[in-house]
Amino acid sequence: MSNGTVYYFDNNATTRVAPEVVEAMLPFLTEQWGNPSSAYSFGNEVGEAVDHARAQVAELINAEPREIIFTSCGTESDNAALNSALQTQPGKRHIITTAVEHSANIKYGQMLEKRGVEVTWIPVDRAGQLDVHEIHEAIREDTAMVSVMMANNETGVVFPIEEIAAICRIKGVPFHTDAVQTPGKMELDVKALGVDYLSLSAHKLHAPKGIGCLYVRQGLPYQSYIVGGGQESGRRGGTENVAYMIAFGKAAEMATASLGGEVERIRALRDRMEDGILEAIPGVTRNGAKEPRLASTSNLSFADCEAEAILLLLNREGICASSGSACTTGSMAPSHVLIAMGLSPEHAMGAVRFSLSKYTTDTEVDYLLEKLPAIIEKLRGASPKTEQPAAEAVNS
Ligand SMILES: *Cc1c(COP(=O)(O)O)cnc(C)c1O
Repeated sequence: MSNGTVYYFDNNATTRVAPEVVEAMLPFLTEQWGNPSSAYSFGNEVGEAVDHARAQVAELINAEPREIIFTSCGTESDNAALNSALQTQPGKRHIITTAVEHSANIKYGQMLEKRGVEVTWIPVDRAGQLDVHEIHEAIREDTAMVSVMMANNETGVVFPIEEIAAICRIKGVPFHTDAVQTPGKMELDVKALGVDYLSLSAHKLHAPKGIGCLYVRQGLPYQSYIVGGGQESGRRGGTENVAYMIAFGKAAEMATASLGGEVERIRALRDRMEDGILEAIPGVTRNGAKEPRLASTSNLSFADCEAEAILLLLNREGICASSGSACTTGSMAPSHVLIAMGLSPEHAMGAVRFSLSKYTTDTEVDYLLEKLPAIIEKLRGASPKTEQPAAEAVNS
């Protein structure tokens, strides 16, 4: 049984809030609680802090501060990008996205389909990778937006965003990318990538849940998703979530600083974990390409095991991991990402995602490698699938 310590391997679902981030945001919950839009200096000073946070977030992706719209989360940013594309181009009723997006895009796309918008769902291959040629082929006169995630939250597979952006630029179609999984793990430069719209969510980079942003390239049309006051230069109504914006800014600054050496440490730790599991336990396969892949992510299928059972036994040892995306946990449907990759439902149901962060330690990986083999052995011992062949062998 667990000794109360949490061994956390679910950083693609959410991350620990950095102590530095908590420290930066606290004054805005205590002394500096003014409204940034107010005319007096008690509010103005808060407004200046928000400006600073906006500049910090902009710098993370090499954007200009005025290109950043703060939102309530990554989901809102994703929804807002597609909504704006359709609202600002009334004659265009076609969207291109992929079959492996986060549910924020999948579910929004399905809702749009019910409203008569046509959606092309770009497929992926067995390795979870897409063919940019298929995106090129899918673009039509009436395509309002192409939206393709930068890195997959379940497999960590990275898509060729620069190439896709170049195709969209040539075809004159706005391009959005959900880059929620990438800060602090990959270089992020909207100018070099050539993207038009980009979503981020702060809780994936060691800030609190409930704050995100949408990058809108200067000069491009944008229609508000949340309509109300003139906040965010009239592009997103609602009194600013000041403390969380400050937190996001600080976390963005820290994510930039942790690129390079820190990413390589995480990658080496992930590889040690993944190789260790593959060596110690038979019948384990990696889901998704080995590269290009986020340094933090490993998605493994355990033959003759249900992921939900593995997670239950891991949980008893204090180990946190997930099956599919956190948003579908609890429902027993196999991951739409793994199914899109052509995995059988049984294979997909045996998939566990382990995701690391800069706070993941060697000790945590050692502990996982110590506990996991016995858990799998126990489950396979209890599984009728593995008992049957043994019984047959005795009979024959
Ligand atoms: C977590 C996540 C989201 C959703 O972000 P929220 O802030 O939780 O709404 C969107 N896309 C990807 C790729 C994610 O990993």
